[in-house]
Amino acid sequence: MRCPSYLVRCKNAAGGEHRIRLPLPKDLTLGTYKPAREGSVDLACPVCRQLHRYAGTEVQHSFEEVADVRHLPPDPVPMRIELACAHPGCGQRAVIYAVRSPEEERSAALARVSQSEVFVDCAAGHPLVLPEAARWKVTEGPNCNPF
Ligand SMILES: [Zn+2]
Ligand SMILES: [Zn+2]
Repeated sequence: MRCPSYLVRCKNAAGGEHRIRLPLPKDLTLGTYKPAREGSVDLACPVCRQLHRYAGTEVQHSFEEVADVRHLPPDPVPMRIELACAHPGCGQRAVIYAVRSPEEERSAALARVSQSEVFVDCAAGHPLVLPEAARWKVTEGPNCNPF
């Protein structure tokens, strides 16, 4: 059977081609697909732990042939993380996104994201510095989809 796939290609320049699977939007319909968000978001890759910026236009939506629907990986859980840039004297608010599989504990996922290699800038124009995870405001659920 054909199953929807919704993803971005990770921007890791050295890590080979890999994908970041995203949760399916609730209103996803073949042929009328449009990203829920026009702008860009900062998204942590669960494979290589690099944090890059992605535009809504970079989301790839397709249907893949799957022999057995039971072999499909479960939809990832989106996480929206609000934080204040920890660059000395900065404190600019920033929002980053991450995904975890339902089998991965939330605490383990946050520990993973806290070790991200950051390739995005803070609104003040310098590379974003992540504060310790204890200072993050984390929300999960369907309203936290990156796209
Ligand atoms: Zn990656
Ligand atoms: Zn900053």
